[in-house]
Amino acid sequence: MAKKKKQHQDRGTGGGSTQSLPWKKNDELILEIENMGSQGEGIGRADGYALFVKDALVGDVIRARIIKTKKQYGYARMMELIQPSPDRVEPACPVARQCGGCQLQHCSYPRQLAWKQEKIAHCLQRIGGLDVRLPGEKSSDESAPLERDDVGRDTGTPVVMEPIMGMQEPYHYRNKAQFPVGYDRDGHLVTGFYAGRTHQVIPHTDCLIQHPCNQVILDTVLTFMKEYQISAYCEESHTGLIRHILIRVGKATGQVMVCLVMKGKKLPHAEAFVERLLECKLNDEKFSIASICLNVNQEKTNRILGNEIVPLYGQSYIEDSIGDIRYRISPLSFYQVNPEQTKRLYETALEYADLQGGEVVWDLYCGIGTISLFLSQKADKVCGVEIIPQAIENARENARMNHIHNTEFFVGAAEDVVPQKYAESGGRLRADVVVLDPPRKGCDEKLLETVVRMEPDRIVYVSCDPATLARDAKYLCGKGYALKRVRGCDMFGMSYHVETVCLFTQLVGGSTDESS
Ligand code: SAH
Repeated sequence: MAKKKKQHQDRGTGGGSTQSLPWKKNDELILEIENMGSQGEGIGRADGYALFVKDALVGDVIRARIIKTKKQYGYARMMELIQPSPDRVEPACPVARQCGGCQLQHCSYPRQLAWKQEKIAHCLQRIGGLDVRLPGEKSSDESAPLERDDVGRDTGTPVVMEPIMGMQEPYHYRNKAQFPVGYDRDGHLVTGFYAGRTHQVIPHTDCLIQHPCNQVILDTVLTFMKEYQISAYCEESHTGLIRHILIRVGKATGQVMVCLVMKGKKLPHAEAFVERLLECKLNDEKFSIASICLNVNQEKTNRILGNEIVPLYGQSYIEDSIGDIRYRISPLSFYQVNPEQTKRLYETALEYADLQGGEVVWDLYCGIGTISLFLSQKADKVCGVEIIPQAIENARENARMNHIHNTEFFVGAAEDVVPQKYAESGGRLRADVVVLDPPRKGCDEKLLETVVRMEPDRIVYVSCDPATLARDAKYLCGKGYALKRVRGCDMFGMSYHVETVCLFTQLVGGSTDESS
């Protein structure tokens, strides 16, 4: 230990050998946290060897115990906080450290936002190879800070990010929660959240980033299950009935959906279940239960939802609205979890799309048509593509419900549907604007290739993972597009996730990548 501490004083001189590691499991050391990893973990360096520490924050000095070593880096646990970072705050939630849901409750909200913005910039710089600067950051060869108007006129010009859009109230923002059901060590039925990287349920029904209605609903479901001896599902043995409780809240409409995810197709005493839920008094008068349903998932899988929905009460969807548009949302459909920030995100996408009224827009990965319908009011035609059939059903209904007639929706993987439509058109399919809003893994290259062939003037990329965004940005920038605008939007306060909107415009003269 003494030796280790001595070695640690040389920290920062760099170049720890990868042959004989300077540290081994269970070593303890004093560590200053200098950086943050992509999942919000603190990073400190000991003899140049990077250690990742969950719940540690830049500026903290901690006593850490090494829990795992790898050749280039290791993991350590924070044993004692010796000197807190100036950005450290007391987590508001009592289970913040055990629960895998929030990673940054110990970090002040302004610092969370700054970190998320830096994360986007670093990804675009390092993975995308793009000259992206933080808002107001000085360029190395100019003395004046770059202003937005200087941005990206030519390919060589740095792109200055627009300031990240933070939330007004970074708690109670989510409109969707999926609570696992299980048993604690004493065999008591519990619901809550999975501990980080495990499937152990941390009992907790009062999650601070969720809607306050959830607590009453969860307590009602647990009481019902106990009274009628309805079992919770057990992953290891693949036995038991109730897997998850899915709750969705339409924040604008007050409609609430409760959906039990079950291994079986039939819920015993279903009438009593419905009665209980309808009787329960939600702790906000604006909200009432509009839909109760079952989702059947009989597979031995990590996936939460199965494909079959059995309605028990009301419709098997709820409605919500963002701006002037009303949306119908089924349990299987993707819908952004933070409606207040979604509105700002879509407004940014709309601004970047710069529609004049005559454009043909393709909205790829369109979900229930949220962005499509938002843009349709300013475009000639919007075509949406989405892989989940129920989401496309919702999208079509949503268009009808909002009296929107200039949209068309296609079911299928975007990387199949778009190349197929392009081929069917004999290579004549064109778009003025393409919106890409893929899941975390980003876009398939086959899709990007076809998008480039469709020669849109503008590509608006909405991303929930800066790393895959940066990878795809690199591709587009090698194929005749330039990154012009970037803006972060925090949809997920207290977590490490961040949403980004980017605008790419077509360079006159086309591809810069001669090799293809
Ligand atoms: N634009 C929508 C949805 C974005 S989330 C909104 O803002 O609400 C990403 C969507 O992509 C999800 O609806 C998911 O079901 C869908 N998806 C995932 N893989 C896909 C693929 N290969 N092709 C098309 N859609 C896909």
